[in-house]
Amino acid sequence: MQKGNIGVTTENIFPIIKKFLYSDHEIFLRELVSNAVDATQKLKTYASKGDFKGEMGDLTVKVNVDKETITISDRGIGMTAEEIDKYINQIAFSGANDFLDKYKEDANAIIGHFGLGFYSAFMVAKKVEIVTKSYQEGAQAVKWSCDGSPEFTLENIDKADRGTDIILYIDDDCKEFLEESRISTLLNKYCRFLPIPVAFGKKKDWKDGKQVETDEDNVINDSEPLWTKKPMDLKDEDYKKFYRDLYPMSDEPLFWIHLNVDYPFNLTGVLYFPKIKSNLELQKNKIQLYCNQVFVTDSVEGIVPDFLTLLHGVIDSPDIPLNVSRSYLQSDSNVKKISTYITKKVSDRLQSIFKSDRKDFEAKWDDLKIFINYGMLTQEDFYDKANKFSLMKDTDGNYYTYEEYKTLIKDNQTDKDGNLIYLYSNNLEEQYSYIDAAKNKGYNVLLMDGQLDVAMVSMLEHKLEKCRFTRVDSDVIDRLIAKDEPKGEELANEKKDILSSVFRSQLPSMNKVEFNVETQAMGETGAPIMITQSEYMRRMKEMSHIQSGMSFYGEMPDMFNVVLNSDHKLVKQVLEDANSACSEELLPIETNIAALNFEQSEMQKKQQDMKYDEIPQADKDALSEVEKKLADEKSKKDAVLGKYAGGNKVIRQLVDLALLQNNMLKGEALTNFVKRSIEMI
Ligand code: ADP
Repeated sequence: MQKGNIGVTTENIFPIIKKFLYSDHEIFLRELVSNAVDATQKLKTYASKGDFKGEMGDLTVKVNVDKETITISDRGIGMTAEEIDKYINQIAFSGANDFLDKYKEDANAIIGHFGLGFYSAFMVAKKVEIVTKSYQEGAQAVKWSCDGSPEFTLENIDKADRGTDIILYIDDDCKEFLEESRISTLLNKYCRFLPIPVAFGKKKDWKDGKQVETDEDNVINDSEPLWTKKPMDLKDEDYKKFYRDLYPMSDEPLFWIHLNVDYPFNLTGVLYFPKIKSNLELQKNKIQLYCNQVFVTDSVEGIVPDFLTLLHGVIDSPDIPLNVSRSYLQSDSNVKKISTYITKKVSDRLQSIFKSDRKDFEAKWDDLKIFINYGMLTQEDFYDKANKFSLMKDTDGNYYTYEEYKTLIKDNQTDKDGNLIYLYSNNLEEQYSYIDAAKNKGYNVLLMDGQLDVAMVSMLEHKLEKCRFTRVDSDVIDRLIAKDEPKGEELANEKKDILSSVFRSQLPSMNKVEFNVETQAMGETGAPIMITQSEYMRRMKEMSHIQSGMSFYGEMPDMFNVVLNSDHKLVKQVLEDANSACSEELLPIETNIAALNFEQSEMQKKQQDMKYDEIPQADKDALSEVEKKLADEKSKKDAVLGKYAGGNKVIRQLVDLALLQNNMLKGEALTNFVKRSIEMI
């Protein structure tokens, strides 16, 4: 028997391995099973080159668990004593402390850096044995044993079979790894698609109400997963089945992209566009990353473009430096190339589906939209491709490319300044009357009710030339798209004042809501009263919800315009009625107002050319006195008109109807409205 010290400079690496690699203990199994698979593949390679002429036999890698040990056995190339010395004993371990300090958090980094794959066994084992016999003719089998100190023993033994058994004597604080279910879960996670069959114990059967082992190996992996095959040899059903295997809980995917590159880097995989159930949160990190069929991670940020992390599927590449930190990964030029390649591949595929089967593409658009929009918003080069197949949908369910839509609305929806106005709605039901009015005017209205549409609107205004997006309820129809058209007859200012005053008095007071009442000639057939919300303010508020640093807008009240149609019969009637009911009472007030107005303008005239400091204090006081009186008189006037309006059911009814149409009539006000309506029938 031979004894020796493992070639490390640090006193004892095993406590370090245990301490620092704490969080990722479970990967020991991945490392050891992949070593076994590698050794088996090497044997196959030697055989194919004629360097190994013996019988291959059953090459299944076997994992077995008993009360104290886990054993991983393969029938690969095995090792001679010299090879053990070279590959196992002499591990390079320079500058260990520095490195461990830097990468404390990331077990993968340490393991990869030092080629510690095998030594990860000591994360869970107090003693490890290697029992191995090389494939070379006449090789002497050996047993290496190490109890976690830097000392090991190596002795010759008898072993019938070629290959290696790694026997782990599991530590007391790692007993969980002796549970069958735990190992089964880990094998399924890391080894599910390894290229050599891996068996975990034997298959079980039910016999006389009890589970018994059969003779058959319990193979846990699919050694030829779909992505390793040629797209030519695969049918749709194969892709769908693979998807179901990967994501048993998901709906059938919309479609998939088979990736297959061998230059300038190696990459295979299949990406699926999932069908998302409308209200479910989008889930990132569903893509699984493999390295030669060994599962590495399912957090792929930095490797695939952000928007593609929403997709499902598998990427396999030996060229992605897997065992390094994330920040390194993001700056790696290979990774950047891969990311660019995948983006291009995805946009090409979308483009080709769009071209070859537009109907199908449209049918899937509502589900696809979120991915495509997200890509366009976050990745410039994707936008440049996607703007040719990204669609807009109108409120009648027709789909257009950006180019087609522009052509459609160009003639009718260009305003007097030459801006193309895109009208949109984000709620078909709530904005029905506005949509209807716009359609009657020959306008087209887009439906933009997706999660990303607020951001899309901003981006498109930027990208498309001379255009503006305007929500269909942001103004009365005649002003939605400003054109040089003859307007109806405007009311005189006094009349406007009266109308504003009576209607304003009947508007409810609501928390953080402000109304501005105005009058506009909108034709006899137009609605008598409408409530609109300025596009600009609404958008600022919407943005403040998704962007930080805009909370100022979020705090602002909602401002609505209440627009009275002075052409409408009911509004005219209110005006007439208010005039005749209140004129007597208003007369003295109006007289006072007229006098005060005159006085005020005289004073202002006198002061207007003076600097503020030159105005005598007495004059300043006099002016503010007049202003105060004027305000008093005006509120008297409002009080008279308000009192009148309170008793005028038409006004109340019109106001409530407008509120109702905007989903703003609630609670007691709604009940009152219903009662009043019944009385009026
Ligand atoms: P890596 O696999 O990254 O090279 P490891 O520490 O896991 O690092 O293994 C070191 C070496 O030991 C391997 O390169 C291989 O030559 C040898 N080895 C490990 N496990 C086996 C095995 N099951 N059969 C044959 N050789 C093995």
